[in-house]
Amino acid sequence: MAEKANPIADARLFKDIYVCRNCNAKIRISNPKLLRPVQVRCRNCGAKVLRPKHKELRKLKV
Ligand SMILES: [Zn+2]
Repeated sequence: MAEKANPIADARLFKDIYVCRNCNAKIRISNPKLLRPVQVRCRNCGAKVLRPKHKELRKLKV
């Protein structure tokens, strides 16, 4: 059901999304190749510490 993830949709959903480590706000980056997460600030708290959401997903899977 909803638990089964489509790898393609999965990549689309999590590829461009980063999570603020400070306030856990999700931040969508339209073009991660041009715009690195380091250069992006959290809209919510202005922190620069972001992590890719995809990474977290991997962690949970393992
Ligand atoms: Zn934040």
